[in-house]
Amino acid sequence: MFGLIGHLTSLEHAQAVAKELGYPEYADQGLDFWCSAPPQIVDTIKVTSITGQVIEGRYVESCFLPEMLANRRIKAAIRKILNAMAHAQKYGINITALGGFSSIIFEEFKLHESKQVRNIKLEFDRFTTGNTHTAYILCRQVEQASQKLGIELSKATVAVCGATGDIGSAVCRWLDARTDVAELLLIARNQERLQALQDELGRGKIMGLEEALPQADIVVWVASMPKGIEIDFSVLKEPCLLIDGGYPKNMGNQIQHPGVYVLNGGIVEHSLDIDWKIMQIVNMQVPGRQLFACFAESMLLEFEKWYTNFSWGRNQITVENMDKIGQISVKHGFRPLLSF
Ligand code: NDP
Repeated sequence: MFGLIGHLTSLEHAQAVAKELGYPEYADQGLDFWCSAPPQIVDTIKVTSITGQVIEGRYVESCFLPEMLANRRIKAAIRKILNAMAHAQKYGINITALGGFSSIIFEEFKLHESKQVRNIKLEFDRFTTGNTHTAYILCRQVEQASQKLGIELSKATVAVCGATGDIGSAVCRWLDARTDVAELLLIARNQERLQALQDELGRGKIMGLEEALPQADIVVWVASMPKGIEIDFSVLKEPCLLIDGGYPKNMGNQIQHPGVYVLNGGIVEHSLDIDWKIMQIVNMQVPGRQLFACFAESMLLEFEKWYTNFSWGRNQITVENMDKIGQISVKHGFRPLLSF
């Protein structure tokens, strides 16, 4: 059995979902309530591969909200993730993806040092961040969507916002090794990590977001921002392809400009309907078939019975492992989302 640990994007989102699901008493509650809410299994999932194989999974809602980080409720955030992991393990789930901010909190606050959660000793090889598949899908989106728009990678400048992150650095590695992209712009805040990435790649210009945006033909957004930022679309090139892989989204405003194309990044489409409710709640356009690539990674590991933390730690994703997960992604009927 596979598992998905997820969370909602904001307090407002959580309140709306509670109302929709018929829990009006939860819908009026503020952040304090969510800080004390325990994890819950809220969905049972059945996925059929195009090979005919069928697997079953569970969705664990951690009750974490990004506002907990913005409001310095760090202990609550940590508790949410550890409790959700313990819940998944207690339930006997073989391989569980740490969706969205779950793996960011795990790494940022060094939760590998907190193996014991009450009477459960966490077995980390039952978990995966899902970031290798996410990075692979984002790269395929860059390659395929640019082609659709007539943007030639060999002449294109690609900016990666969040370049030094786990997903961002993997995207840079792939774009460097597997494509003939003309120029890479590396965006993040910590200069030391940017310098280390530039040294590793042997290329790429370190740049601030404002300076980079007008130069980019393609922007891959993979910064860990608890809330999206407003973009001035008028400074962008035409055409410009924006692939937003953030959860919550990095871009706070909706597209308003001709020639600017926004793609939901790190999202896969399955060839067959998935029997679940959860993707409706996170507002996927086609909730029966579209999902986060990190969640799909735990499904893929379950299909192949690779019960191991395939994606783990930080900035260790190799192009070879992206290839490996990419091959089984295709084999089981997943493909990158390409509709704008
Ligand atoms: P990491 O924490 O590993 O990396 C985050 C990156 O963002 C770092 O480079 C960080 O560098 C940068 N960053 C953070 N804040 C800012 C800012 N204000 N401006 C510029 N850069 C910034 O995160 P991950 O790689 O694990 O995840 C990245 C995003 O992808 C998250 O939003 C996450 O929720 C999402 N995600 C999506 C998935 C999917 O399936 N679609 C799956 C998993 C994650 P610095 O701190 O130096 O600025």
